[in-house]
Amino acid sequence: MATVSCPRCHQLVDNQAISCPYCRTTLKAYGHPGIPLHRATGDGYLCETCTYQVDDTCNFPQRPYAKDCTLYQNIEETKLDLEQQHHSNGFAVNVKTWVKRNQTWLLLLGLLLVCLLFVIATS
Ligand code: SF4
Ligand SMILES: [Zn+2]
Repeated sequence: MATVSCPRCHQLVDNQAISCPYCRTTLKAYGHPGIPLHRATGDGYLCETCTYQVDDTCNFPQRPYAKDCTLYQNIEETKLDLEQQHHSNGFAVNVKTWVKRNQTWLLLLGLLLVCLLFVIATS
């Protein structure tokens, strides 16, 4: 059984638990274990570090003073994800542009190989 620490009383509880058995804090949204409910820790609001606040796409009524939210998406994590994506995309793009730039040479090399094979086969 995987456990998480309750954001309020810090007791270890089952990570599928809908509410904390010790302090009754709601841990999941709509009573569904598959929907995590994010909670602000301390005095801050979730929206302060949320991607949807920064890109202004959130239309939840509790914004920008959400203390808990099902849609919360940490901005730092999103940035990291994007950077990683960018990185892998960058490599593929690099290969593509290299091939494009050297297309003629690659073609000539291919022809040369074919000729070579032909010569070997017929001799
Ligand atoms: S998704 Fe939730 S945490 Fe994010 S800005 Fe909207 S209300 Fe705030
Ligand atoms: Zn608790």
